[in-house]
Amino acid sequence: MSAYADRLEALVVDAADRCTACGKCFEVCPTAREIGLDAGEAKVRVGELMALTQNAGSEPAPGLFRWLNACDGSARCSDACPEGINVRQWVTIAKMKALDATRPRDVGAANAAGRFRHMAQAVRLLASMQLPSETLSRILEPAERRTAEILFYTGCNVLRTPHIVLNVMDILDTLQLDFDVVGGASHCCGVYQFQEADLPTYERMGHRTFERLGRSGASKVLTWCPTCTKNFDELEKDVEEPFFDLGHVSEFLAANLDGLRARFIDQPPRRVVIHEHLGIGATVASIRKLLAAVPNLELVDLPQDSGFSYACGGLAAKFKDREQAIHRALAEGAVAAGADTIVTMYHSCHRALAGAEAVYPLRVVNFTDILAEALGRGGHPDYYRLYKAGGAMDEAVAAARRFLSDNGVRVDEASVQSLTADIFDETGLSGSRDAFAQAFTVLAREA
Ligand code: SF4
Ligand code: SF4
Repeated sequence: MSAYADRLEALVVDAADRCTACGKCFEVCPTAREIGLDAGEAKVRVGELMALTQNAGSEPAPGLFRWLNACDGSARCSDACPEGINVRQWVTIAKMKALDATRPRDVGAANAAGRFRHMAQAVRLLASMQLPSETLSRILEPAERRTAEILFYTGCNVLRTPHIVLNVMDILDTLQLDFDVVGGASHCCGVYQFQEADLPTYERMGHRTFERLGRSGASKVLTWCPTCTKNFDELEKDVEEPFFDLGHVSEFLAANLDGLRARFIDQPPRRVVIHEHLGIGATVASIRKLLAAVPNLELVDLPQDSGFSYACGGLAAKFKDREQAIHRALAEGAVAAGADTIVTMYHSCHRALAGAEAVYPLRVVNFTDILAEALGRGGHPDYYRLYKAGGAMDEAVAAARRFLSDNGVRVDEASVQSLTADIFDETGLSGSRDAFAQAFTVLAREA
């Protein structure tokens, strides 16, 4: 085993040593209930988790394996543990070990490589359709070449909705901070490799990305993506304390609210509902605090299922019906409560909900849209929302034509088909799929 794998192992052995087998973590697990595992068997399941952890190379008991496979990272278990054990971390590492014990590593490595390739291709195309080459090059520049005090680490997938990155850059700029921005698939957090139990490749990707962030010399790394945040917290920071401070950008902005508030300008009246996900640090509380300070903005509270997953999509995507019900209940609840806007916390939620505008009398914006505009900045077109709402595509196609040419990237018809599936097969609310597919097929034929 590598030194890194040894340290991961030590984390779960410590969790098993501290665990009293009370079963509270399993009792509150929403996805265990979703797949029909009985809360009354909590002590049995936890006993199986301890056995898997303490017997290196052993195979997981069937009930345990179903629990591990169902986990979508909600962190309800960690919050419920009276011993303060990070149970989500334990479950994440245990699932990796269980997969490793039950199938050849090559199978997982092939799955991970396929998932990574597909993601990188989609991200590259969507970013090239929406960003000027100068901005894209700045984001993709290697982390170790940066010199700024603060590094805003985007991860990969937010580049599908790059106006969010531009908003954050505007906000940090307004605060007159010495910052740089880094991301893209060459700085992947390695989530697919870890999820597929390809630990050697994870070490060459996610673990290395974390080390590269450190080599920039930044004293603070701001994360955006909830998955990167969770991975880096649980699989890197807890394994070896980094030299830099690590935290989600929303927490950093909430800590700097006074500086933001002093720069806010008058805003139109808005009644907003935040689409909330618990499970990633203090992001919900931070975003609520930030939005509550925006002039003329009223927060409308809505009962919602914020503890089911730490974000839309990703690990939660295996529960399509449940996600769909959450999205519909949110939009219908917002309309019934007289809200005019849904605010998304993360990019994957933004992709899921952006098309709600085609179905409900609501605007859908990210919290960074509101903050950047309140600072007199922002206003970056949300082309992804245009794709997803399925209305007239003229503006989105004209921008894509310009940016693709600027980036030296071409789309062909097969890429448009693949992007259409990516955009419209995700759980969420949307308008016409054909509007996007037809307009961008015409663009591909031009090329
Ligand atoms: S993180 Fe959430 S889904 Fe996963 S085991 Fe814990 S409670 Fe269950
Ligand atoms: S809640 Fe904590 S102490 Fe209780 S079984 Fe789960 S991990 Fe062990």
